Amino acid sequence: MKHDFDVAVIGGGPAGSTTASYLAAAGLSVAVFESETFPRPHVGESLVPATTPVLIEIGAMDAVEAGGFVRKYGAAWTSAESRKVPHNGFTGLYQDFQAADVMFVERDQPGVDRDHTFHVDRGRFDSILLKHAQSLGAAVFSGVRVLTVDLDGDPDIVTLTCRMGPREVDFTARLVVDASGRQTLLGRQLKVKVPDPVFNQYAIHTWFEGLDRAAIAFEPAKTDYVYTHFLPIKDTWVWQIPISDTITSVGVVTQKRRFTAANTDRERFFWDFVSSRPDLYDALQRSKRIRPFKPEGDYSYAMKQIRGDKFVLVGDAARFVDPIFSSGVSVALNSARLAAKDIIAAHQAGDFGKERFTRYEGKLRRAVKNWYEFISIYYRLNVLFTAFVQDPRYRIDVLKMLQGDFYDEDEPRALPAMREIVTAVENDPEHLWHPYLGTLRSPTAAPAF
Ligand SMILES: Cc1cc2nc3c(=O)[nH]c(=O)nc-3n(C[C@H](O)[C@H](O)[C@H](O)COP(=O)(O)OP(=O)(O)OC[C@H]3O[C@@H](n4cnc5c(N)ncnc54)[C@H](O)[C@@H]3O)c2cc1C
Repeated sequence: MKHDFDVAVIGGGPAGSTTASYLAAAGLSVAVFESETFPRPHVGESLVPATTPVLIEIGAMDAVEAGGFVRKYGAAWTSAESRKVPHNGFTGLYQDFQAADVMFVERDQPGVDRDHTFHVDRGRFDSILLKHAQSLGAAVFSGVRVLTVDLDGDPDIVTLTCRMGPREVDFTARLVVDASGRQTLLGRQLKVKVPDPVFNQYAIHTWFEGLDRAAIAFEPAKTDYVYTHFLPIKDTWVWQIPISDTITSVGVVTQKRRFTAANTDRERFFWDFVSSRPDLYDALQRSKRIRPFKPEGDYSYAMKQIRGDKFVLVGDAARFVDPIFSSGVSVALNSARLAAKDIIAAHQAGDFGKERFTRYEGKLRRAVKNWYEFISIYYRLNVLFTAFVQDPRYRIDVLKMLQGDFYDEDEPRALPAMREIVTAVENDPEHLWHPYLGTLRSPTAAPAF
């Protein structure tokens, strides 16, 4: 049976547009179906350097640089408590409790040729990437929602039923790539989505104009870092991401049960939580909110299956882990890169059977498993994270993870060391760090998925 496209991609976010760029550049006929009309706002505004090699490889880096996004040179963590405590386990060292910062150039990262990545207005960033895919030959259908995917008809064809204005229209392809983000179209349809057993986080975020970032930065030179401000409430933090010279994105992340228990509206919840850090609260109160508060809930999950005959899942459609280390867009881009390699080979072989995507699945699952464990350890004992960042023996290994450089080895070196210390602290109620254990206890030694 004749088909309309070699590959149909659901979703024109970073995962979908990057997949389309790789495939179109390799000569496949590819269509992207995007339900929204770009530019549209989107959460997930701070990138990590692991996005750089992908943006260069697809040829989009010049357009991204020309977009004038705020350059991101590093990341910082602050807390309400700046008191000094003994740096347990590291003889004679004292550290600023729960505060740290890193600069990406401290570690050379393969494929990364510049000292910065970006903070992005996702409306503009996603538009640049989607236009880029189009310029390479991808057909882009904007404002077209994919309703269902039929994988069961003709063994060589997949059919997408789409809403185009008032009509429903079918398109056919040899393979479908689900890049529908947290809407997880195919994962839900195939019933392979598994909610995370531990992380049920909730976020409320908005943009502020005129925030005095220097007032809450470590040093004036570091105002363009992404900041994670710990609140003195367990497992709760605030992101601060510069979107332009004057606009700053700010979001509170907590466990969903805390929001439910607060039984209040979004605005009051945001301010109540932020007021636990008076320095932050005062600076935010002096600035002007320019977007409505937006909630993001129920967002951590995995998929039992991320590939099958005639389908592949990429980006958030394949997996979502807590965004504390700004990992999402880098996972979107790198999953697109890895999947595209297998898809191009499958196309050359004329076979889109699920075995063709084994390498993709292995690499992606391993990388995200490491992200997940890093995040889990962080939530379990974030004083350990800041201790490792400040310890010369581990700093570079932790930085490798913060750069998102997760795709080339089995396990980053710092992970086993961190795992060992968390276990020791958990098993010793007398341990100096025992009171600082978080309440989110995921199976760090053997993540379930
Ligand atoms: C609170 C929070 C904070 C975050 N912070 C960061 C951060 O700082 N840095 C970072 O890198 N990541 C962050 N993320 C994660 C980041 O948002 C995602 O990982 C990233 O957007 C994933 O890209 P994607 O292309 O997979 O999905 P998306 O960007 O969500 O794109 C999916 C696209 O598919 C379209 N779509 C959906 N369903 C259909 C359909 N049926 N038909 C057609 N089109 C469809 C949508 O309109 C959308 O445009 C954060 C996430 C959350 C929840």
